[in-house]
Amino acid sequence: MHRPIIFLAVFLSAVLLALHGAQAAAPALKAHDYKMAGDRQYTRIVMHFDRAPTVNWFLLRDPNRLVLDLPATEFSFDVRELAPRGLVTGVQYGAVDEARARILFNAVGPFSVEKAEVMQNENSDGFRLIIELRASSNADFDAALRASISKPASSPVRDIVTAKKRFTVALDAGHGGADGGARGINGTVEKTITLIFALELAKKLEETGYYDVVLTRETDRFLRLDERVRIAREKNADLFVSIHADAIGIRNMRGATVYTVSDRASDAAAAATAARENLSDEIAGMVADDGQDEVEDILVDLIRRETHAFSIRFARTLIGQLSDTMQMVNNPHRHAGFRVLRAPDIPSVLLELGYLSNPSDEAQLRDPEWRTKTMDAIVTAIGYFAKAKLGAGG
Ligand SMILES: [Zn+2]
Repeated sequence: MHRPIIFLAVFLSAVLLALHGAQAAAPALKAHDYKMAGDRQYTRIVMHFDRAPTVNWFLLRDPNRLVLDLPATEFSFDVRELAPRGLVTGVQYGAVDEARARILFNAVGPFSVEKAEVMQNENSDGFRLIIELRASSNADFDAALRASISKPASSPVRDIVTAKKRFTVALDAGHGGADGGARGINGTVEKTITLIFALELAKKLEETGYYDVVLTRETDRFLRLDERVRIAREKNADLFVSIHADAIGIRNMRGATVYTVSDRASDAAAAATAARENLSDEIAGMVADDGQDEVEDILVDLIRRETHAFSIRFARTLIGQLSDTMQMVNNPHRHAGFRVLRAPDIPSVLLELGYLSNPSDEAQLRDPEWRTKTMDAIVTAIGYFAKAKLGAGG
């Protein structure tokens, strides 16, 4: 039997605020008067809010769970109301970061979400969220899970969302300042070419009218890897793309590679690339503690797993588009322990555009026409991803 575990929003917020040094922006939503009723076949959940909440939901399995995403929220639920009831064996809630909160419902088995709706109260101020769950089969749950992950915003709740944020892309021009990065055999400096590329790509994305773009740097300045992540998180980025150009001792090695984060490297070359890229922090005279952003918490762990699945999905989409227009290395999706890809809640990839140690790759990177073609492919990939992730961007 699960016991409800309640994470105090205040505690988790404090931890995350301390870690990221960020300020809370808009006043938090206030959630109160949680009620749950029903049996093992049908369970109804109602909670109240001081104003209309923006809610998205999705499902997770092993165990079967419903996850509700909310903006920053102050919870004042009566703990007694959270006791297991009907289909729900446990309720957890807390802050994800300074801007977001999450509620998890553990279920006794597979279920379907019959209703997830925000209603304005008729006889009092405020709004209420009504969720109706009905017992279902494993097959039905799995089908709903796939649908909810690929289109998390498709619930009826979406209908009352008023302030729809644009899909925000964080572009991270690798290196900068004292950290020059790799050096091309004809003198191209990685920090310069990554900045040119990021600025041009930002312009292209903004011109579509579908995206907000966050640049971690717009000038030749040094940034630690965790600062790059922090900038993206502060701006609520939906996707993080770190732009690089590698260099190695093998002169004829060429082509682009897309990396996602992993504790275990896919291969020795990926591990070596991650080690080179992680050197950025050592240039600043400080080595970031790999464990510093690890909050041992089930919520953060869940978010990490969900985010990682999205990172892999974007990496594949990006490779699909890029391989039509440019040369890629063999097995172009690789993974390793890149510190800059550690945002727990933002799908993140690192794109090595090519090898500055190869004269052809270096020449391409300096060619505005080649860059335009490459960027068009990236913009297309971001478009597919944004549509799949948020239903935004199109
Ligand atoms: Zn680099």
